[in-house]
Amino acid sequence: MQPWCAADHVPLMLVEGHGCTLRDQFGNQYLDGNASIWTNIHGHNHPAINAAITEQLGKVAHTSFLGFTHEPAIRLAKELVDLLPGKKLTRAFFTDNGSTAIESAVRMALQYWKQNGRPQRDTLVAFDRAYHGDTLGAASLGGIPLFKGSGNDFGYRVLTVPSLDALDLLTVDERNRIAAVVIEPLIQGAAGMRLWPQGMLKALDAWCQSEDVFLILDEVMTGFGRTGKMFACEHEGVVPDFLCLAKGLTGGYLPLAATLTSERVFEGFLGEPHEGRTFFYGHSYAGSQLGCAAALASLRVFRDERVLEQLPAKIARLSELMGDMPAFRHCGMIAAMTVDSPDLTMGTKVCLAARKHGLLTRPIGNTLVLMPPLCITLEEIERLVAALRTAVAEVTAPL
Ligand SMILES: *Cc1c(COP(=O)(O)O)cnc(C)c1O
Repeated sequence: MQPWCAADHVPLMLVEGHGCTLRDQFGNQYLDGNASIWTNIHGHNHPAINAAITEQLGKVAHTSFLGFTHEPAIRLAKELVDLLPGKKLTRAFFTDNGSTAIESAVRMALQYWKQNGRPQRDTLVAFDRAYHGDTLGAASLGGIPLFKGSGNDFGYRVLTVPSLDALDLLTVDERNRIAAVVIEPLIQGAAGMRLWPQGMLKALDAWCQSEDVFLILDEVMTGFGRTGKMFACEHEGVVPDFLCLAKGLTGGYLPLAATLTSERVFEGFLGEPHEGRTFFYGHSYAGSQLGCAAALASLRVFRDERVLEQLPAKIARLSELMGDMPAFRHCGMIAAMTVDSPDLTMGTKVCLAARKHGLLTRPIGNTLVLMPPLCITLEEIERLVAALRTAVAEVTAPL
């Protein structure tokens, strides 16, 4: 806050957006290079999503999801489970952000074992450098010290491992305590866009199945086309026990999240109220009607505009244009490069320089991320990468 509050600092206020372009209070235009922190899918001010929200607003904005339901949520739950191959995921639980999508999955997994004959399964496995959100439970799964806050004293019992191989080294007693393994599939986002080796997700899924441990996939960042397929898990033919969705669910319009799970988990909570098998978890804005209307509209845009079909050409262009940049890597429409410098403020400096060239994005240390809305055109991709290149050159040029 100190530099933010400095007398000469002029905060950037974003006042308007259309497609991939945002406009600030002075009328300057920028490409939304990180899709408004990884949320926006079809661009800003999309007429179909605007219309769906307006139409819903004419009926009702929000009603409680505790003990009631509504048509937009019913339709959305059905459409979401139908997006996954196979018939494993049949149930959707709504919350309102990525952290709570994770927390509800974790709490369901723990409570499931507790009331279904394996109460010793009280431990969660997460990976080094993982990021699953900022609330206490989600942060206790995190492997990035910066985002963990003041420690893990109030969180869950978490075993953090560096890789899949580490799981094979666990003793039988340790394995028998595992309730679930939580992972960001294919790519760790907040860690700085770290790619998992190809095949790792498939192997992890096989390990979980052989141990009868739940697999929780955090697709809060990777969901909704970001990796080139609707969900990252499709790349390796994996359907988890829990699939956590948030950021892009509403096209990046409104806070809404969904945790999809299986019939097995659903049935593990059935019983008469006095049996105490209820999943007591509900946020005030869970499954908001406006959010569900936006999400349904976003899924319709995927179909109407054949969004996924157009991605291969965009992905190819993005990686072709960025391919020679230092430490370049990409996973579908998520592209990153890292400035190799002992000065850990280089990423910030590049992002500030990029603003002057019409690009907004946010660094992760010295890693620069380009993750535009999926509706970006090839011409906009060229401008996006050109702006980043110019900014990197300006900042790293020898004085
Ligand atoms: C952003 C993010 C979260 C947290 O989502 P919020 O809506 O910010 O709470 C969790 N996991 C991943 C992989 C994310 O990128």
